[in-house]
Amino acid sequence: MNIYYDAIYSDGLDPSANFPVERYLKLHEAIKYLDHQCLIRWKKPRLASPEELMLAHDETYVQRFLDHDLSKSEIKRIGLSPWKREMVERTLRLTGGSLEALNSVLSGDLFSANLGGGTHHAFRGEGSGYCIFNDLAICAEAALRRDTISRILILDLDVHQGDGTAEIFKDDQRVFTVSLHGKRNFPFKKAKSDWDVEFERDAGDDDYIATLEGVLNQLRGERFDLIFFQAGVDALATDHLGTLALSRSGMKIRNQKVIQWRRAMGCPMLIFMGGGYSRPIEHTVDAFCDLFMDLAGEFRDHTH
Ligand SMILES: [Zn+2]
Repeated sequence: MNIYYDAIYSDGLDPSANFPVERYLKLHEAIKYLDHQCLIRWKKPRLASPEELMLAHDETYVQRFLDHDLSKSEIKRIGLSPWKREMVERTLRLTGGSLEALNSVLSGDLFSANLGGGTHHAFRGEGSGYCIFNDLAICAEAALRRDTISRILILDLDVHQGDGTAEIFKDDQRVFTVSLHGKRNFPFKKAKSDWDVEFERDAGDDDYIATLEGVLNQLRGERFDLIFFQAGVDALATDHLGTLALSRSGMKIRNQKVIQWRRAMGCPMLIFMGGGYSRPIEHTVDAFCDLFMDLAGEFRDHTH
């Protein structure tokens, strides 16, 4: 399975930012250590082009970002400050990673993943909540330009609602947006996805898994050409920003349910990493290791 990653995912952020800057670096190291069978092919992503960003974003916003010309309040809304100059390259490479993972599924792979991205809070003309550009929306627009792709499902299991994605595709029948999230979590003013499912504070494994199964069962009746999975693990009980209470094994079951369901759906899946802010960060890293190793195992079993 191809996973796209570059050290700039961590190094492009300032170490003093209010964000677990090292999580990409640590996760990359941890997966390499676990992957004795070499199930994963590491790929360095290219830079996304301005034209690709403009598939889902306003030209003026894209241009001002590239020119290092966003206002203080715009940067504040995004967070991740203080911004280093490398922020531009980091953002383009992170988005490039998602676009290349898309290309790998469009070229016939069952799965492909970015070890980053899933930046679902970004709107057409502004960023928010650690998200500058919405790589889910950019990839959906890019995929829909192909003759073979006419309907995409975005399944967002991050604990925060995918408000940017929902807003970008609110009147677009080609993209079906589903978000399962914490009711008490950011964003406090929710957007309207095609299907929103909210959990109360401290919802645990049983509640979460039963609800997810209901959603996946209902989605089996629909036809999609491509599935995007925003796989954030910030629903863990240890997460500093999430209000839910999933265990590591509950999170593993969540991933298994999605993997089994994808088999039944029969279409390829693109995985965007999404959020995770446990303290200590090792809990987040462990949960993402579980996710990527399970995906890589499924890829091996169904490709050879
Ligand atoms: Zn999140």
